[in-house]
Amino acid sequence: SIPLGYFGGIGLASRNGILFKGGNFLDVMTKIDTVVMDKTGTLTKGVFKVQEVVAVNIDKEELVKLVALLERNSTHPIAQAIIDSAGTLVEEEKYTAVEEIAGHGLKGNLGTKVVLAGNSRLLKKYGVPYPPEVDVTGSTVVLVAIDERYVGYITIADELKEDVVATVKQLHALRIKTVMLSGDKQTVVDEVAKKLGITAAFGGLLPEDKVTALTRLKNEGRQVAFVGDGINDAPVLALADVGIAMGGLGSDAAIETADIVIQNDQVLKIVTAIKIGKLTRNIVW
Ligand code: ADP
Ligand code: MG
Repeated sequence: SIPLGYFGGIGLASRNGILFKGGNFLDVMTKIDTVVMDKTGTLTKGVFKVQEVVAVNIDKEELVKLVALLERNSTHPIAQAIIDSAGTLVEEEKYTAVEEIAGHGLKGNLGTKVVLAGNSRLLKKYGVPYPPEVDVTGSTVVLVAIDERYVGYITIADELKEDVVATVKQLHALRIKTVMLSGDKQTVVDEVAKKLGITAAFGGLLPEDKVTALTRLKNEGRQVAFVGDGINDAPVLALADVGIAMGGLGSDAAIETADIVIQNDQVLKIVTAIKIGKLTRNIVW
C-alpha cells in the first residue's frame, strides 16, 4: 500500500541517520537535478585552525587576544579557532556594543578602542584601507582594525570532509549538477571547487545573495536541494525544493527550517537519501 511504502522509506532513512520531515520529501529527492551546497560546515569540517598571524605595530599575542575577546560574542566556526589559539583570556576585559554583521564579521568597543575583526568587506564597509595582498591569498583571512587603522590579520584554515569528493562524484553519476555558494572569498571557494570537481562555485555571497542565486536556479526550472550547516542559511533552506541541514554542527534554526536533517556530518548521506527515495518510489508505485 502507498502509506506503507512511505513509512518504510522514512524508517529506512532514519536507521541511516537521515530524518525526513515528511514522506513527500522522499519523492521530491528523486526529482532533484541540482544540489546546492554551502561551503563552511557542509563541504568542510567547519573546524577552523589558526595558521598565521601577521601583526602591524602591535604585538602578535596582543592582537590574537584582542580578537579572541571579541570573537567570544560569535558562534561562527571562525570564532572558536581564534579563541582556542589565544590561550587564557583576561576575564575582566569585556567588549561593549558588539555587532555581528552577517557575512562580514564583528565590531565592538574595548574600553575606548573600536575594534573590527572580519573579512575585507568589513574593512571596506568602515573605510579602513588594508594591504591588497590579503585579497589574493587562498585562505580565509580575518583582518583586524583598531580605531579605523589596519593592524594585521589572522589566517584560518578548514579541512574538507573525507566523503565530499565521493559525494560530488556520485551526484554527477546520477546526472545531478553541483553548485557551491559561500560567504567566503572567491579564491578560497575556487580552490575547494577545483579539488572537488564541483560544477559551479560562487563566493563572497551575503545571505541575501544566496537567496538570489537559488531563486535564479529555480527560475531556470531546476529542482533544487540546498544543503547547509545553517549559520545564516535558514532563508535558502526554506526556499529550496528540499532543504537539507547538517545536524552535527547545524544551528537550531537550520534544523527547524530544514525538510531533511542529516544527523551526523556525512555529506554522502545526500546520495543515500536520493537512493532511498528511489527505492520507496518503486515500492509505492
Ligand atoms: P559560509 O557561506 O562559507 O558558511 P559565512 O556566510 O558564514 O560563510 O561567513 C562569510 C564570511 O564572513 C567568512 O568567511 C568570514 O570572512 C566572515 N565572518 C563571518 N563571521 C565572522 C566572525 N565571527 N569573525 C570573523 N569573520 C567572520
Ligand atoms: Mg555557513
